[in-house]
Amino acid sequence: MDFSYRQEYAEYLDGEDALASLRDQFVVDDPELIYLDGNSLGRLPKKSKALAEEIIEKEWGRELVGGWKQGWLELSERIGDKLAELLGAERGEIIIADSTSVNLFKLAGAVLRYQEGKNKIITDDLNFPSDVHIINGLIDFQDGGHTLEIMRSADGIHGPVEELLTGIDENTALVTLSHTAFKSAYTYEMKEITQAAQNAGALMLWDLSHSAGAVPINLKAAGVDLAVGCTYKYINGGPGAPAFLYVSENLQKQLTNPLTGWMGSGNMFDFSLEYEADTGIRRFLTGTPPILSMALIEPGLDILLEATPIKIREKSVRQTEYLIRLWESELASLGFSLNSPREADFRGAHVSLSHKHAAAIDMALIHEHKVLPDFRAPDNLRLGLSPLYTKYVEIFLAVEKMKMIVQDKSYEKYVGKMTKVT
Ligand SMILES: *Cc1c(COP(=O)(O)O)cnc(C)c1O
Repeated sequence: MDFSYRQEYAEYLDGEDALASLRDQFVVDDPELIYLDGNSLGRLPKKSKALAEEIIEKEWGRELVGGWKQGWLELSERIGDKLAELLGAERGEIIIADSTSVNLFKLAGAVLRYQEGKNKIITDDLNFPSDVHIINGLIDFQDGGHTLEIMRSADGIHGPVEELLTGIDENTALVTLSHTAFKSAYTYEMKEITQAAQNAGALMLWDLSHSAGAVPINLKAAGVDLAVGCTYKYINGGPGAPAFLYVSENLQKQLTNPLTGWMGSGNMFDFSLEYEADTGIRRFLTGTPPILSMALIEPGLDILLEATPIKIREKSVRQTEYLIRLWESELASLGFSLNSPREADFRGAHVSLSHKHAAAIDMALIHEHKVLPDFRAPDNLRLGLSPLYTKYVEIFLAVEKMKMIVQDKSYEKYVGKMTKVT
């Protein structure tokens, strides 16, 4: 069936969708709500609900402190190893810990110490603000004469690849970028940038928050040194679920965690005042992890592994292409512009559309049409399509509602009334 702006076509695509049944593995509290914010907080897997009850009753309730000896202590590594399968890393290269921001601080801090004498850190202006704040905070804290160079994207959509390739030099200690940009969904060619950094003697640190679970990643094949990322977006780990960090095996012994807490020591139960770092990935831990939140990462991860990264990507590209076709045929003439790359190879799993009245349109979608996208200032509507549970028909209906809101001007009553960012 050829593309057409008709609900039947969306239903046909849903009928052809090999991953459609995975939606049944998630709690869908209100089937009428069109949830397009899975890139901010993924849906709740049904198994997570059951697992939470089990852990609280059987492990915490019954085992009490004994739980640490019955699996809690190994949980960060065990789930890390499972995530390694998804991200193309080896066992022992990924561990669950802290938040993405804190992990970035730990790994970037370790790099600055390792790369003594090199003063430059490079990033881009598409990066997530917290990443830039963390690096600036680290530089201030160290007071060692480091500078952060922020390469500028020419259009605010595509990554400044040329500027990066020419800007990385022998004085560069670290290059750190978001693999998929949180606003435009631009996705870097991981291997190209990693190699350019390494050729100049810099280390490469990727933030995978907006790609892990949505875009196929092979950290080994790309030769990546370091990475961090969230588990509560496309991995569906739950609000505030702890993040992950990856350190390539060959670097682990050479890097030291600046946040040296007992969980990162090799002898934590000696209670010795002498700190001796663990010899493996555990050295990047700091304090006691949130066991309940961490355990609930696993069900979402299992669904992703069942679906496989290749099939997830196939569906994701099909869905973002479909949305962009709908934008071209219905929304472009109503003042919406595409704020994501047109080429699928450079695009993650969300699509950004800008509009002069995006904030008011967002409010109308949420309050009057049961569509939940998100808004990023000043004029960006971000539509997150999560291949595990977003339906084509939801994409169609969301576009139809956006079209209606602009045509009948029902957004006007919300202009200037933006209360809270969703
Ligand atoms: C969501 C996101 C984060 C969030 O970091 P937290 O420490 O979990 O608040 C960081 N980086 C990127 C690229 C993100 O998309």
